[in-house]
Amino acid sequence: MKSILFLVMFLMLGLFLMSSCNQEKAEKTEMEVTADTSSAMYISADMLTYPEDVTCGMDLHKHAIADTAIYEGQLYGFCSDYCKSKFKEDPKAVLAKYESEKK
Ligand SMILES: [Zn+2]
Repeated sequence: MKSILFLVMFLMLGLFLMSSCNQEKAEKTEMEVTADTSSAMYISADMLTYPEDVTCGMDLHKHAIADTAIYEGQLYGFCSDYCKSKFKEDPKAVLAKYESEKK
């Protein structure tokens, strides 16, 4: 009887460890990877951090927003999947380039 109790406790401990491990993994992914937003069609250029595609500089007031991404709590819009993937590769570099070209 005691061995069954031990087995159950062992299983519960295993499940607990597995779930806490998964949670940690999920949080880490969120921190590292730029979040995806699939509600691009409800987003207007006025809601974006910049009313332009920071990768190619396209005016998103004139061009439809194909996709968006959230980076460090800021919302960015893109004219295409290509520009978004470029941004996600190295958001810092893309933003630095965009800011320097703006001046
Ligand atoms: Zn673009």
